Amino acid sequence: MQLIDAHCHFDFPYFDNIRDQELVRARQEGVSALVIPGVRRHDWPRVRALSAPEQGVWYCLGIHPWYVDEHHEQDLSLLESTLASLPPGCVGLGECGLDALWGDIDRQQEWFRAQVGIASRVNLPLIIHSVKTHDQIYGVLRSANWSGRALVHGFSGSYQQARKLVDLGCYIGVGGVITYARAHKTRDTMARLPIEALVLETDAPDMAPAGVPKGKNSPVYLPQIMRALAGLRGQSAEQIAPTLFENACKLYGWSGV
Ligand SMILES: [Zn+2]
Repeated sequence: MQLIDAHCHFDFPYFDNIRDQELVRARQEGVSALVIPGVRRHDWPRVRALSAPEQGVWYCLGIHPWYVDEHHEQDLSLLESTLASLPPGCVGLGECGLDALWGDIDRQQEWFRAQVGIASRVNLPLIIHSVKTHDQIYGVLRSANWSGRALVHGFSGSYQQARKLVDLGCYIGVGGVITYARAHKTRDTMARLPIEALVLETDAPDMAPAGVPKGKNSPVYLPQIMRALAGLRGQSAEQIAPTLFENACKLYGWSGV
């Protein structure tokens, strides 16, 4: 069984002393590829330095809504020219998006809109962070006539909200949230969406699944998320794994990993 961790902050300092070991362990668990999102310009070189497609380590570059205030207009030009040069291992723009629980949402909208424009010009998928802003994300994508690939990562929300994004062509990121019995709404969403719309991710080291200490999440736990998803859908992990793998490949434009 082959799995892809579509969103994992493997560049974060938490992994500094355990990165190689976690990669080996993840591979033993069937995780054959992972994608590291870049969240701020300051971190882009670190993210790029970890790129190792032959070992299944890929990356994206973007400006996360939490960090918009530390960026300047020129950072968008740098982002666009870097992505347009298609550096090896780079598979998307992200993470970008909106977060209603953090900072000024109007400022975030400007930066998100600008990055949606860049992604469509360079023809790369968008990796989207959305916290209590699913309808606004939908609005921005609609008004930009977005028709490319996109992942709304770490999705937490209702079936109706997810369905609108899926109808627009977005994939929905399934993370550790669904391993908690109390996450009724999100569990119901993931049980009902078409399997063709779902992509597995850990968002490690954050979003620890049940039983894993806070801040110590790792791609090693991706199978736990998959088993939780299979359980919610009344299927076996073996039944859903191939489609989940294929979905991540389609999202990132791989013919197979
Ligand atoms: Zn993230």
